[in-house]
Amino acid sequence: MQKAKLALYGGRPVRDSYLAYGGQWIDDHDIEAVIRILKSDWLTTGPAVSNFEEAMADYVGAKYAVAFSSGTAALHASCFAAGIGENDEVITTPLTFAASANCILYVGGKPVFADVDSATCNISPSSIRESINENTKAIITVDFTGQPIEYEEVLEIAKEFGLVLISDAAHALGASYKGKMVGSMCDMTIFSFHPVKHITTGEGGMVTTDNKDYYEKLLLFRNHGIVRDPDKLENNPGPWFYEIQRLGFNYRITDFQSALGLSQLGKLPGFLKKRREYSSRYTEAFDKIDGVITPFQNRDGNSSWHLYILRLDPAVLSADRAEIFKALQKENIGVNVHYIPVYWHPYYQQLGYRKGICPNAEEAYGSILTLPLFPKMSIKDVEDVIDGVKKVISYYTVM
Ligand SMILES: *Cc1c(COP(=O)(O)O)cnc(C)c1O
Repeated sequence: MQKAKLALYGGRPVRDSYLAYGGQWIDDHDIEAVIRILKSDWLTTGPAVSNFEEAMADYVGAKYAVAFSSGTAALHASCFAAGIGENDEVITTPLTFAASANCILYVGGKPVFADVDSATCNISPSSIRESINENTKAIITVDFTGQPIEYEEVLEIAKEFGLVLISDAAHALGASYKGKMVGSMCDMTIFSFHPVKHITTGEGGMVTTDNKDYYEKLLLFRNHGIVRDPDKLENNPGPWFYEIQRLGFNYRITDFQSALGLSQLGKLPGFLKKRREYSSRYTEAFDKIDGVITPFQNRDGNSSWHLYILRLDPAVLSADRAEIFKALQKENIGVNVHYIPVYWHPYYQQLGYRKGICPNAEEAYGSILTLPLFPKMSIKDVEDVIDGVKKVISYYTVM
């Protein structure tokens, strides 16, 4: 068979315009919702924030939701609410965006990286168990790509050792595990509304919880640690009085962002449908070709498909990941790599983490490739990605 000339070597790319790996879908309805708020009296911390919070709590089936200026701020706040501090160890995964581990450092805790399961790339329950000692205070899990972790087992471990379970579900809005929504199962669950995530507020985040004490601490942390409730003041010389009782931040989200979030939330079912449809189309196409391995899916979970990640099979490929990455980019297919193991970053290396501590995660990192996946893609875009991958992979297949 004649192999098509790659764009990398001067051939014609499979498409003329560059297709990014992710992106938002904002329509006129969203824009009108934002404009309504811009014309109102409230720009920040008004009724739109609580409406958005209530709708999110309802959607995931949690009692409370607290909105933040970013997913990272939401993670920081949840570490504060969990009471993590100096000398506390928190177990997390290395295959994630650095914010999942940075938030532990923000509050003075120590991130401890547990390895992932080779098939799902989610944190492995047995590796969590091996990482627990008398200083362990909490676990921060990540539903990698939108595939729920093994919640049943991890919840059991948290209960057995009295650990706080925080779920970084930045990838997993709309995902479920054994019929239960992500956001309803853990002590606290975090979502992100960055434009590449399932719904967007520009920047934004949310914590959902059933625990009233966590809920109150999250509110406190979001607003400088300020207390105004007269019943909770240490001194009360008059009605103007308020107190800074803990060290908090300004992590508030605006009302116009919340209006956008609420409007976007209404579209989430349609967004999820597209993500799931496009992922099945990818898997159907790539299961038939050598050189790539399609993402393994645990039957207990229903993924929300934030990312579609192929594994390259080095046994049948004559090029490494870097070469294939470059070749696909030249075909105008915006591939990406999620993620570099967190502790490989220079900052973590300076803290003393050494390479090699999570071999499964490091091995996965060497062969993963994220394909474009977002609801606003057309079927034609999806077919271009399939054509591009087939073209590049078949070019480098040695058989
Ligand atoms: C996006 C993301 C975050 C951070 O969210 P921001 O809203 O960008 O601060 C945290 N964890 C994971 C796994 C993410 O993908």
